[in-house]
Amino acid sequence: MPIHSIPDLPRMLCKALEHAETALCIHDDSRRLLYCNPAFGRLLGHAPETLVGRAFDELAGAPRPAQPAANGRLETLVRCHDGRRIWCGIASTGLDRAPGEPGLRLLALTEITQSKIHEVLLDRLLEGMARDEAPERLMEAACLEIERLLPRVSASVLRVNAGRLNPLAGPSLPPAYLQALDGLPLGDGPGSEEAWAGEIEQHPLWSAYRHLLPPELRSCSVTPIRSSGGQLIGCFVCYGQGAQLPCATQQCLLDICTHLCALVLERDQARARIHQLAYYDDLTGLPNRHLLQVLAGTELAGRQGLAVLYIGLDRFRQINDSFGRPSGDELLRTIARRLRQACRSEDHVGRQANDEFVVLLPACDRAAASRHIARLKAALDAPWRVAGAPHNPSASIGVSLFPEDGEDFQTLLRHAAMAMNQAKGKGKGRGGHVFFSEELERLAQERVALESALREALARQRLHLNYQPLVDIREGRLRGVEVLARWRHPQLGNISPERFIPLSEECGLSIELGRWVLREACRQLAAWRRAGLRVPEISVNLSAGDFQDPQLPAAVLRTLEEHGLHGADLTLEITESALMEADSDTLGVLDQLHELGIRLALDDFGTGYSSLARLNRLPVQELKLDRSFVRDLESNSTSRTLSDAVLHIGRSLGMTVVAEGIETPGQLRILEAQGYTLAQGYLLSPPLPAEGLAAWLKARESP
Ligand code: C2E
Ligand code: MG
Ligand code: MG
Repeated sequence: MPIHSIPDLPRMLCKALEHAETALCIHDDSRRLLYCNPAFGRLLGHAPETLVGRAFDELAGAPRPAQPAANGRLETLVRCHDGRRIWCGIASTGLDRAPGEPGLRLLALTEITQSKIHEVLLDRLLEGMARDEAPERLMEAACLEIERLLPRVSASVLRVNAGRLNPLAGPSLPPAYLQALDGLPLGDGPGSEEAWAGEIEQHPLWSAYRHLLPPELRSCSVTPIRSSGGQLIGCFVCYGQGAQLPCATQQCLLDICTHLCALVLERDQARARIHQLAYYDDLTGLPNRHLLQVLAGTELAGRQGLAVLYIGLDRFRQINDSFGRPSGDELLRTIARRLRQACRSEDHVGRQANDEFVVLLPACDRAAASRHIARLKAALDAPWRVAGAPHNPSASIGVSLFPEDGEDFQTLLRHAAMAMNQAKGKGKGRGGHVFFSEELERLAQERVALESALREALARQRLHLNYQPLVDIREGRLRGVEVLARWRHPQLGNISPERFIPLSEECGLSIELGRWVLREACRQLAAWRRAGLRVPEISVNLSAGDFQDPQLPAAVLRTLEEHGLHGADLTLEITESALMEADSDTLGVLDQLHELGIRLALDDFGTGYSSLARLNRLPVQELKLDRSFVRDLESNSTSRTLSDAVLHIGRSLGMTVVAEGIETPGQLRILEAQGYTLAQGYLLSPPLPAEGLAAWLKARESP
């Protein structure tokens, strides 16, 4: 039936309007309300009869809410009687009237606040995140959105980071109040693990901060912001005028809002983590080399002068090997902390590689850098306990200065590293510092040239060997000979093994060199024996790296066999410091050599840092007292005490002990008196070429 044919239609329509659940009103051309139904009054919090005659715009709030076109629909904010704003969908229907009469419109209002705030905020936050806006700004937008809807509420967002509060936004709150909350532990202010609402006045937590809040803010509600994993990452805090707590609908808005805030905070956390991983060292928390590069770039752009310190820990490997990696890590963290504490706020401390740190000292010339280094060293050298025992860490430092030592960071860093290597060599790895210089660079270049010369000399067998007798002084007979490599360069003349042996180690030639020395020495021993000379054994020096080579035992055995020799004909010497740095591979190699019947001697004993416990576990049969102790025997009672102690240590561990570098009869007398029986040194014989040794031996043997 067409609607017009319904009997009594106007009355029924009136009744329908009055009882409708939808908020309805009718206004005229000038938007003055002619009728509002009870649902309209309820929605906006007015008695419907008080509304008639008022302008819809004035009622719904300034700025003038948009009006949908006739027969159209729009969504807009509408103000309620109590000041709240709600989002409404408004559908407008033009009511046709007789010509000449003013037009009327029927408006139907539906509240859509919850879905709308979600939409508005989500749009705002997603757009902001896409544009990389700071979380502070996005949180402020969320606060403002809530404040727009709840006009007597001041909203704020606190981030919770490692149990502490960090205010991100609070656009209507006094900055001093927000600052006061910064860094507070969770639960000590308006940050709490659980949702909470109550009166500020009565809550003890606010006692210290209440006075910073405007007096009209009397209530507070805290809604936790949780990550998708349920972890507390922030709090959405609303301060209300009056003592009112949020009602269910308001709380619902807050829940929507906090859910969206969680997106932003979580993303920010992930970004911070990525940033941390990309730019900071995980172990020490210091900037890594990528960040150092950026920081240095900024400092260099200021063109103020900059000192670059390259800091390498001394004997770090020893800590790692002796006490385990966790102790090594702990030392690195300790060093990082000490460096940071000893530096000024404008300095940058970073970790460059394993046990290497870099410090950038802005606005620093050579004199100022020296002062800073003294301070850093004092901090670094302080004792540190490892496995209950005190240890004195030390570091070697290389320094380069901008602009004199380089214009860009990579050059400065390379030069500082070069200077550090020099410091390590100079101080025998003990806490020295060296400034980069042209001379250093020249040395480095020279080194490169020497390296290729050594490569060539080895390839063309231009090295030769000397042999120094090791004598049993009790019986006056030869115990063996130490094999010492010699290099005579056609232009540069004699180059000391103190120079070319470390060079061979650094440029990866030491295994080749070691194998050559071993072959040549075995060949010589076999030749002497064939010639009827009684040379009981040879001692061959090998570098630390040679002992890391798992092929070494097999190669040694092959060489011995090729010349008809046995394990007992050979002693291998390893320096104490090299042995102390030995890793498990090296120890395995040492054990295999031991099983072949080869003796192992610890060279330069007394200069390294052996622990007796470790010494006892190693397959070492001989100690060679470092010649620095022998040199000072006559003048220095400490040296005498030490040589005595070394003899006792060796004997108590069942080892033979050799004194080397004996130059004077006085030294020999002291050593003999102390009980030494094995001696080596210029006094007995300098290192000799093979023919020289044969002559020396013949001269001794002939009566
Ligand atoms: P080292 O193994 O401790 O060798 C003893 C050094 O003391 C030799 O120096 C020897 O010439 C020197 N010397 C011997 N008697 C005296 C003395 O009475 N007074 C003084 N002042 N010195 C004496 P050299 O030949 O210059 O070798 C130095 C170091 O180079 C050696 O110390 C050893 O560590 C290393 N080296 C030498 N040849 C080789 C080699 O073939 N392979 C490896 N890996 N290292 C070698
Ligand atoms: Mg030696
Ligand atoms: Mg020695």
